[in-house]
Amino acid sequence: MSTPTPLSGAALVTGASSGIGVVYADRLARRGHDLILVARDRSRLDAVAQRLREQTGVTVETVIADLSKRADLLAVETQLHGDQRIGILVNNAGIAVTGAMTAADPDALEAMLQINAVAPTRLALAAAKGFIARKAGTLINIASVTALIPERFNGVYSGSKAYLITFSQALQEELRPHGVRVQAVLPGATRTAIWGAAVDHLPQEMLMEVDEMVDAALAGLDQGELITIPSLPDPADWDALTAARLHMAPRLSLNKAAARYQR
Ligand code: NAP
Repeated sequence: MSTPTPLSGAALVTGASSGIGVVYADRLARRGHDLILVARDRSRLDAVAQRLREQTGVTVETVIADLSKRADLLAVETQLHGDQRIGILVNNAGIAVTGAMTAADPDALEAMLQINAVAPTRLALAAAKGFIARKAGTLINIASVTALIPERFNGVYSGSKAYLITFSQALQEELRPHGVRVQAVLPGATRTAIWGAAVDHLPQEMLMEVDEMVDAALAGLDQGELITIPSLPDPADWDALTAARLHMAPRLSLNKAAARYQR
């Protein structure tokens, strides 16, 4: 486990109009961080911003942006790049297309990849450049446990979240020497609007309340974790998966095909 770097600076939180993003905004404001909240729905975002200003006294700005639209994404990217106050990025905005991939609207799947993978990539890299220059900063990417069980969920959604884990792991290696922290959070099922009415049909023992999920994720961040799985009882399980993966590493690229493939 790495030595945790203290959180500092303002936090830009995407998807801050609902669910997990609202709780991140709340918790970061209560820790004294000024906020820049990003989402599409102006009235919900303004309501969150107003409540947090009144309750915590921090400065809260709102940015209306549809992260599936290139112009909006580039505007947020430009802000992250140029705003020296920002020390924390929470890449949280995301959507879930559920059900069979072959039955899904391909445009909806493409939009999901844009929002869940392309947007957080561009925003993280824009933030990282400033963080490197200031030798401090924290990037939090909200992935999902579905990345670990792709057999059980829409594979484009799970794949977008697996991508975020891989991206976070590689980015942490790249940014560690510069004093920049990266965390990927893998929530299990969490009670938010993303589920729609389906939330009532989930086994209740699998469903975490959103406050508990975010508080656990922030505890993981405070403990210096790169990967936080809020409900996983024993972190040794994740360590075993990592060890199995790295065990294969020396044999994954060799100049000869494996014996079973030789004729
Ligand atoms: P949510 O309540 O539906 O919130 C999603 C947030 O993303 C909203 O603030 C929404 O704001 C924003 N958003 C959606 N599309 C956007 C777009 N095109 N541009 C900008 N913002 C957009 O869902 P949530 O559960 O809190 O989800 C937050 C993250 O957690 C997602 O990345 C999700 O994949 C992940 N996650 C959730 C669960 C779960 O069980 N809830 C589990 C694992 C991972 P607007 O509609 O105002 O734009």
